[in-house]
Parts: sequence; structure tokens; C-alpha cells
Amino acid sequence: MKEEKIVILDRDGVINVDLMTYVTRPEEFEAIEGSLEAMAKLTTNGYKIAIATNQACIEKEIISEEELRSVHEHMIDLLLEVGGQINYIAFCPHAPESNCKCRKPEVGLLQEIEQQLKISLKGKYFIGDKDSDIKAGRNFGCTPLLIKKGGYGEKVFRTENSPPDEQCFNNLNDAVNYILKQEA
Ligand SMILES: [Mg+2]
Ligand SMILES: [Zn+2]
Repeated sequence: MKEEKIVILDRDGVINVDLMTYVTRPEEFEAIEGSLEAMAKLTTNGYKIAIATNQACIEKEIISEEELRSVHEHMIDLLLEVGGQINYIAFCPHAPESNCKCRKPEVGLLQEIEQQLKISLKGKYFIGDKDSDIKAGRNFGCTPLLIKKGGYGEKVFRTENSPPDEQCFNNLNDAVNYILKQEA
């Protein structure tokens, strides 16, 4: 598998405001301030971007796959306007009770990204706001970074699953700056 620069992102609470319900329509997608610009910075610096997102709303029949796709197309359009690009979006459509192999903290979405992009994710950064993101990242050999001010981040920060303080950030832009600094 190719060794390429790639960052994996959770969606809700990292890129867009976590409504604590579900984003069901493009109009409900509200980018967190600075997040799209941070993603564009990754693109400009030669990073691929993949998203790994739990969307149980599909199996729960709150939205259809088609509607989820239109939310994602909207996100891609907004990002394009600031010069960023998403290379792959992996989503788990299953409800927790289904015990599937893709709902984070399971690693199925990360396997899917590897297979689709043919890029090894070992040692790559996985940025999320939930315990399940941190666990999935660790389980798959990624380096988890926590967004502590987004969505559920405060609940994870400085618990036993929290990454070290220097890998916890207020927002995606700070996390991206950290990543770029490691490279320098
Ligand atoms: Mg999240
Ligand atoms: Zn699943």
C-alpha cells in the first residue's frame, strides 16, 4: 500500500456543528468556524482527507442514503469554495443494536478507507470529538487527536481515553496546525 499523506476526520463536532440529533438536510449543515479553511490547508499541503462518520440515522430511517449524499455534496461544495478537497467519505449507516463491524469504535470504516484509497492509515492522524473516535483510531493504529470544544469533546478530555494534552485541541484549525508543525 502506498505511503501518502492523509488525515482522517470525524464529521459531526469536528467539521460541522453537532446538532446532537442528526443533520438531515443540507440547510442544517453548519460548518464550525474555521473548519473548512483548516481542511483546505491540508489539501494545499498535499494531504488527502477522508471522513469516517457514524450515521445511524439511516438505519433508524430518519434520513435516506440519498439525503445523506446531498448533505455530503453540500459539504464538498462549501469546501471546494475555499480550496479544499475530500477524497473519500466512509459512513456507517447502522444503528448501535446492529453490532456491525463499521460503527466506530469498530474499525470497519478505516478499513474501507484504506481499501478505497489504497493508502495505509497506520500512524496517520484521526481527528475526532468522541470516545468512539479515539478508540477506533487507536484500535487501527492511527494517532487520535481530540477536538475538545466540539460536540462531545469535553466529555473525553482528560478521561482515561483522552489523548495527551498536547494532542487535544479547541478546534480543527488548531489540530491541523499541529499536524503541519510535526511535519516541519
Ligand atoms: Mg463527532
Ligand atoms: Zn455499521
